Amino acid sequence: MTAETSLTARAAALDAADALAPLRDRFLLPEGVIYLDGNSLGALPAAVPEAMTDAVHRQWGTGLIRSWNDNAWWQAPQRVGDAIGRLIGAAPGQTLAGDSTSVQLFNALAAAARMRPDRPLLVTDPGHFPTDQYIADAVARLLGLRVHRVAPGELPGFLAAEGSRVAVAGYAPVDYRTGELHDMAAITGAVQEAGALMVWDLCHAAGALPLEVDRLGVDLAVGCGYKFLSGGPGAPAFLYVAARHQAAFDHPLTGWNGHADPFGLGGDYTPAAGIARARIGTPPILSLLALEAALTAFDGVDLARVRAKSLSLTGFLLDCAEALLAGLGFTAVTPREPERRGSQAVLRHPEAYALVRALAERGVLGDMRAPDLLRFGINALYLSHREVLAAMCALRDVAREGEHRQERFRRRSPVT
Ligand SMILES: *Cc1c(COP(=O)(O)O)cnc(C)c1O
Repeated sequence: MTAETSLTARAAALDAADALAPLRDRFLLPEGVIYLDGNSLGALPAAVPEAMTDAVHRQWGTGLIRSWNDNAWWQAPQRVGDAIGRLIGAAPGQTLAGDSTSVQLFNALAAAARMRPDRPLLVTDPGHFPTDQYIADAVARLLGLRVHRVAPGELPGFLAAEGSRVAVAGYAPVDYRTGELHDMAAITGAVQEAGALMVWDLCHAAGALPLEVDRLGVDLAVGCGYKFLSGGPGAPAFLYVAARHQAAFDHPLTGWNGHADPFGLGGDYTPAAGIARARIGTPPILSLLALEAALTAFDGVDLARVRAKSLSLTGFLLDCAEALLAGLGFTAVTPREPERRGSQAVLRHPEAYALVRALAERGVLGDMRAPDLLRFGINALYLSHREVLAAMCALRDVAREGEHRQERFRRRSPVT
């Protein structure tokens, strides 16, 4: 039996036993595409087009300005926030949807630093997503702090020495490049032990694995609406502020929507009570309603089962890569241990970009992260083991035949 034959049998058995397989019908995926980039832009949930038609024609077109009240547009940031809260383990009233992750990071880091005014350090991951590092630097410059970049593994040692000077720590549970999963409970515990505040960026975790921000006692968190939450391109992000911090949450952007009496139109800012004070300006209603509809794809879904299937898929992908790609110059980057793996599988190859482009021409959509990583995002709501195997067979064929060496696969598009 060839490696491919036995992998085919294994994929068929795993898919046949997959209780989540029917969830694929909650998404509209094009024929002939294997979509392994849902960690960058989630696929289109089937509930979204109809919700958009209703939002545009009925709510906007017919309701006009009345829809702020009649269709509860005004409450959308909190309502959609609570829907996200259910997926990250946050009780209602602590999560707000709106703006981009970058903006919410700014808000979270600045507000957290202001809660620890006597501490001069902001700590973040040198491997963090670039915007997280840039925003940390900007917040530090604005508030007169110093940024220390400390890898998650070195954080306990750093905190033992400098912890009493740290105001806030900003980390991500999943490394966006390698897919490595860090121990959220241990990091949160170490940061808070030092008396600092923990700000998590959940972009690559929300909707992909069960999260328990309340139970872990996380202080603040942000995340993205367009990755595993599948809210659409540029979907609103979210901000979580633990209830115990809300009264002290001094928002750096005091927009009128966060005012205690937004329609009183007074000239001085008084923050609203609760998570409403995290609002800024007029929210993007169409995008919020698309995200709200998208989140119904999670209705009745147990994230522990999503996580189990995701681990099965990423583990199977790594097995396929090992069996099928031997001798073709690939190395696996994502950790093998399930407890150290997020919801993507990553391979290293010096010709990563051209390989990803050539794969796309065969209908296998993944992405590349500079300089040499092929990244395959796994959304367990809509992917199967059969597709994972087909993707790795396609990669083997491309690499073996040197298909990617054609000139057109080397030209860079603006978005990689
Ligand atoms: C995707 C991602 C972002 C994106 O930020 P935007 O403001 O939405 O562009 C930020 N941080 C992390 C960790 C991400 O994975």
